[in-house]
Amino acid sequence: ARAALARRVDALMRTVPDFPEPGIQFRDIMPLLADADAFAAVVDAFAAAVPEPVDLVAGMEARGFLLAAPVATALGAGVVPVRKAGKLPGPVASQSYALEYGTAAVEVQPFTIPDGARVLVIDDVLATGGTAAATVRLLEECGADVVGLSFLVELEALAGRAQLEGHRVDALLAL
Ligand code: AMP
Repeated sequence: ARAALARRVDALMRTVPDFPEPGIQFRDIMPLLADADAFAAVVDAFAAAVPEPVDLVAGMEARGFLLAAPVATALGAGVVPVRKAGKLPGPVASQSYALEYGTAAVEVQPFTIPDGARVLVIDDVLATGGTAAATVRLLEECGADVVGLSFLVELEALAGRAQLEGHRVDALLAL
């Protein structure tokens, strides 16, 4: 069933060359989200892949939000948005990470994360893993227990998984 769902995800996703910059093959999940049946199946698959109880689901800006919220309600968990710097009203905890040129930062509101909370991290695409690794550091610094990371798509050539060693990483589709 999971393999069939992976094929369906693959068929519904668009690959857009040179977006948002030359050389990037952008994996566009919007047609999947717009398909009621496929979207529901993906949410079920995310929820079913979690082997332990979860208190919070952290969604990474911005497409991660769209997946994290329904998965959280399916798991009986709350949602924590992990946002780019400057979007959340403080107090915030912040973690910066290196980009090809310069740095970026991810932020959460630490008062939404009880000490020891079991947190599942969700995003649409695992690419270099820089954003996900910074998110794990951020949540752990806030006292969370990161119980795993789930992605719709993993771009294997970019080896993002190597940045997440020690954590359970799950991807529905590997490209
Ligand atoms: P990274 O930190 O390199 O793993 O990039 C992760 C973030 O960028 C995720 O939030 C993804 O949604 C987005 N992203 C990176 N590469 C792609 C891609 N080729 N297609 C779609 N989204 C991407």
